[in-house]
Amino acid sequence: MTGKHTTDAVIVHCIDFRFQKYLDAWLRENYASCKYDRVSLAGGVFDFEYILKQIKISETLHDINEIILVNHENCGAYGAEGNYARHKSDLEKAKEELLRLYPALDVEIYYLHLDGEFEELHS
Ligand SMILES: [Zn+2]
Repeated sequence: MTGKHTTDAVIVHCIDFRFQKYLDAWLRENYASCKYDRVSLAGGVFDFEYILKQIKISETLHDINEIILVNHENCGAYGAEGNYARHKSDLEKAKEELLRLYPALDVEIYYLHLDGEFEELHS
């Protein structure tokens, strides 16, 4: 079988095991069809150049409509610098750059709290 396979979204989040149950539940709730590519990398958008390569591949191969970026509270990849303001700033910069590259796509950014709350950020 050949033919293009497409999906709805790509989601980017950290590897941290403490948050996977929240991510899984949130994705089940919001993307019931499970049509998304999933990138798991320490720090979420921390290494943005690497993340960007993954998003480009997802966009090229799977014709996505939406990019979801999730950073989280108490992230070891950020260490002591990982306060709320830094995560918010990194997510906003990532969103801005992605919208410049892909103006037709939706980009949503979230800060995931230790208790599992997804806080959507609006830049
Ligand atoms: Zn992390």
